[in-house]
Amino acid sequence: MNIHEYQARELFEKFGVASSRGKVAGTVEEALAAGKAAAGGKIAVKAQIHAGGRGKGTFTNGFKGGVHIVDTPEEAAEIAGKMLGQTLVTHQTGPEGKLVSKVLIAEAVDISRELYLAILLDRQTSAPVIIASTEGGMDIEEVAAHSPEKLMHEPVHPLLGLQGYQIRKIAKALGLTGPLASQAGKLFTAMYKLFLDRDCSQIEVNPLVVTPDGRLLALDAKFNFDDNALYRQPDIVAMRDKTEEDPREVAASEYSLNYIGLDGNIACLVNGAGLAMATMDIIQYAGGSPANFLDVGGGATQEQVAAAFKIILGDQNVKGILVNIFGGIMDCNVIATGIIAAAKETNITIPLVVRLEGNNVAAGKKTLAESGLSLTGADDLADAAQKVVAAVKKAA
Ligand code: ADP
Ligand code: MG
Repeated sequence: MNIHEYQARELFEKFGVASSRGKVAGTVEEALAAGKAAAGGKIAVKAQIHAGGRGKGTFTNGFKGGVHIVDTPEEAAEIAGKMLGQTLVTHQTGPEGKLVSKVLIAEAVDISRELYLAILLDRQTSAPVIIASTEGGMDIEEVAAHSPEKLMHEPVHPLLGLQGYQIRKIAKALGLTGPLASQAGKLFTAMYKLFLDRDCSQIEVNPLVVTPDGRLLALDAKFNFDDNALYRQPDIVAMRDKTEEDPREVAASEYSLNYIGLDGNIACLVNGAGLAMATMDIIQYAGGSPANFLDVGGGATQEQVAAAFKIILGDQNVKGILVNIFGGIMDCNVIATGIIAAAKETNITIPLVVRLEGNNVAAGKKTLAESGLSLTGADDLADAAQKVVAAVKKAA
């Protein structure tokens, strides 16, 4: 799960990670009020979307930049007006971009240096790792690609936690000395505590800035949370913004289905993640293109199967469906009953190819055969993929 920058700042404030003051606004009027409240110096107006690269992004209406620095509350309101309700495209959003429905109005600070600091879960060591670089700012991906030696990796022992010597080592590598080093100690410690406490899988601060008057501030933050720990993080769950997520995936998560939307036209419904991947591959191999990844799991109920079917059929791009069930734990008859229930409700008109194998398969095939549903049976995976690809091509 992801959150917005303005929500990240709320967490920073709670845990004592220094940032610049800011307020979120959903309308031009709110932006004006927030700009007046921030009064004094310059004001940063920042589009709030679940993607980075905003500074260098472009709105689909041609307006450039998802981050602007202005002088007055009136200008802040004017820029907010150009962002709100518009779609921002960045190198992280994909070409379709993301709709901006909120902006952050923050105190803009003068910057002497832009640094990079992140805490992530490193799968290789199964432990947190801190990544730091003096080359912060908008081009960190370039740094990682072309001069990876400029990124420092400091693994943290999961039981011992972040040690004093490590804090000093990172601060030194970032060129933070004197009073800045003690601010760094406080900031790193607070950020690490936040990382553990809220079950984050990633906190990325880019940029972490040094101001001419000697302050160290986290100016931008991106969070990722471990979905498996959300049950014990109610205040994080409350920050979820479903409008930022693929609606198909939101629906799937409500039924505990593992679904990822793709851009092909052959939907697949499979039990088991590995088999789902293999099914996608074989659809591609047969000359088709998968519309999704969908693993209904081993213990799926009839309701879940029906929900999965409806999500698949709700996708306008889907021109054919391949059901591939290898019932080890899964009862084939449950799948068959779910398919029929959903097919009747949704009036399915596109080709449906079903390959059932394993636990209680005879009953499943019988249920399907007696349902009067128009579908094509298949004997094995290759046969199923060829049949669905052929049927979709024929219908086109
Ligand atoms: P993104 O990473 O999505 O492009 P950032 O929040 O990092 O968005 O903003 C891009 C750049 O804008 C930063 O690298 C920084 O130079 C500048 N910036 C962002 N927030 C502020 C602020 N509050 N004050 C001054 N400059 C800012
Ligand atoms: Mg940034």
